[in-house]
Amino acid sequence: MDLKEAEKQINELKEKLEMEQALNNVAFEAIGIFDENLQCIAANAEAVNVFGYTSEELLNLSALDFLTKDSYKVAQANAQKGITEPYFATCKRKDGTTFPVEVRGNNVVLKGRKYRATAMRDLTFTRATEMDLADALYELELIFSNCKVGLMLLKGGRYLRRANQALADILGYDSPEEIKGISMRQLHISMEKYDEFGETIYPELAHGKPLKFEYQMRRKDGNTIWCSFTGQAIDRNIPANLYKGILWVVDDITKRKAKEDHLMRMATTDDLTGALHRKEFFRRIEFLTDDIRQEGLRYSVLMIDLDNFKHINDTYGHEAGDAVLRDFSSMCKEQLRDNDLFARIGGEEFAIFLPQTTRYKAVQVAERLRKNFAEKDTICCGNLIPCTISVGVAGATSEYVEVEELLRSADQRLYKAKEAGRNTVIFFDE
Ligand code: GH3
Ligand code: MG
Ligand code: MG
Repeated sequence: MDLKEAEKQINELKEKLEMEQALNNVAFEAIGIFDENLQCIAANAEAVNVFGYTSEELLNLSALDFLTKDSYKVAQANAQKGITEPYFATCKRKDGTTFPVEVRGNNVVLKGRKYRATAMRDLTFTRATEMDLADALYELELIFSNCKVGLMLLKGGRYLRRANQALADILGYDSPEEIKGISMRQLHISMEKYDEFGETIYPELAHGKPLKFEYQMRRKDGNTIWCSFTGQAIDRNIPANLYKGILWVVDDITKRKAKEDHLMRMATTDDLTGALHRKEFFRRIEFLTDDIRQEGLRYSVLMIDLDNFKHINDTYGHEAGDAVLRDFSSMCKEQLRDNDLFARIGGEEFAIFLPQTTRYKAVQVAERLRKNFAEKDTICCGNLIPCTISVGVAGATSEYVEVEELLRSADQRLYKAKEAGRNTVIFFDE
């Protein structure tokens, strides 16, 4: 080999060396090479950075200076056995402070001598993050288990991944473990509701909206229960991947619902007879006649008054009078259609609104009510109490007539029925 060729090769080697040095110095790990006595013979920039020695100082140190005694023993044994698997150790800085590391070593032989190349990754930050994560998980666990409202975490489809005791209580299960893993199908009151929920609620959740609504659920014993639902997708992307999870906050509102229903009934219907209050009767008629006016549909009204009712009160007592009013109302509700409106508009005066009914048909309804009521005595306190009704009927003709006008006509005909001797249905003006 001539001198020129040798010089070229030396330059190439130098370049290669500089390249490796550059690579070593950008590594996140502290890298060092140790001889057979575990004396440091080379180290990279991160080693200087991590251990606090200068690069010259590092070269005269033994691995014992970088490691705690226990870790040194492990390092020594691993070097002897040529172990290349990573292991955990504790390192020591120049100032005596220690820190956790992950170590990977590799034995190399250069010119017949054994060396150990070692890389050390500082785990201080990782460990701190792990601790923070463990703390956060523990906090979450505390919140989950102590929360007084039901928490329901769904993951991987519509399956319950996690629940708390409050949710188990609401749904009638013994513990959160008992409901863990069950399909939401089991908690919906029907398969139709389950499908409908998936079709309407899930797309909204995917749009990232926090949702709030009231919904009926099925308890373990099969009973239904009203719950308030507040929920959101776990995935923050839009559209959210709902497979990653949905968190629902669930509260039992059955009692509140029952109270609301009761209040609603009290506000709209009469306690004694269950018939609509006068005000509610007119409110609903207004609602119905809007459609009726547009579609030109027929409807009729009946005005009804119980005959000689004062006499019943006077003879059998007020309680008996109440029983007669109740009997009459239940008979009407039994015989009328669901969309007919039945109201108590005075003491013993009732009105009935019959949508989509001609006057001819309304007279038949009135006659039936009159006949059936006259035939069926009320039993109260051992007495059989007979009672009859007088009815005035009015029906919309082909032209639209305001309901007030029809009611007025029906009322006048009712008066005529009384004059005609009671227990009578009148449906025309003379
Ligand atoms: P008519 O055939 O002309 O209608 O005679 P009537 O006795 O039925 O009519 P009147 O208006 O003279 O009497 C109605 C009675 O109904 C008077 C009132 O005390 C009674 N009444 C009103 N509301 C109630 C109630 O809620 N319960 C009872 N038991 N009686 C009531
Ligand atoms: Mg009367
Ligand atoms: Mg009256």
